[in-house]
Amino acid sequence: MGEIKNNLYRIKVALPENVALVAVSKTKPISDLLEAYNEGQRIFGENKIQEMSNKWEKMPKDIQWHMIGHIQTNKVKFMAAYVSLIHGVDSLKLLEEINKQAKKNNRIIACLLQVFIAKETSKFGLDEAELEIIFHTIKEKKLANIQIVGLMGMATFTNNDDQITKEFAYLKSIFEKSKIDNSQLKILSMGMSGDYKLAIASGSNMVRIGSSIFGGR
Ligand SMILES: *Cc1c(COP(=O)(O)O)cnc(C)c1O
Repeated sequence: MGEIKNNLYRIKVALPENVALVAVSKTKPISDLLEAYNEGQRIFGENKIQEMSNKWEKMPKDIQWHMIGHIQTNKVKFMAAYVSLIHGVDSLKLLEEINKQAKKNNRIIACLLQVFIAKETSKFGLDEAELEIIFHTIKEKKLANIQIVGLMGMATFTNNDDQITKEFAYLKSIFEKSKIDNSQLKILSMGMSGDYKLAIASGSNMVRIGSSIFGGR
């Protein structure tokens, strides 16, 4: 008891004011989420839609729920009524489905496009050329019920800080370039428990931290 509180405190005092903290609560029980909630945490990240929806039903309603995982198109409808930010959007097909479900719910859903920056081929995301095509296509198609508010990326899982920094710096440079034609881009979501300090040093303004708050999974 009290560990989550201490962990949160330790992380929050070290975060610059402009950096938002997503508490990644996947696999953790409601009691853990409530402990963080009672310390003032209002943004929670989950990677499975079913689990997030269960938690959304049980938790206080002033929480912002962020979907940080890879999403199956046929499950978008289960979160469309309440999700506040979708981090891992990596295809036009998915965006069109989010747009459709957002419209049904009379909402505009904020999304981040996931960019592939790691060396690991297991990770998802768009390359720079695909990103440009998506921005272009969205404008043409006028998807009125989604808004792309930023970019998200995951660095290689490695102890090599130089490698990680290089990857984050690359994403930051893509972010700055993309902003020139897309002034609505505000959020750069990068950094997890193991690398959030490097991410912030490279210009992240949203970190997604799980195990350093809630313990290992
Ligand atoms: C699980 C997860 C995190 C948090 O990971 P930790 O190492 O526990 O902080 C962040 N981002 C994504 C996309 C995740 O799936």
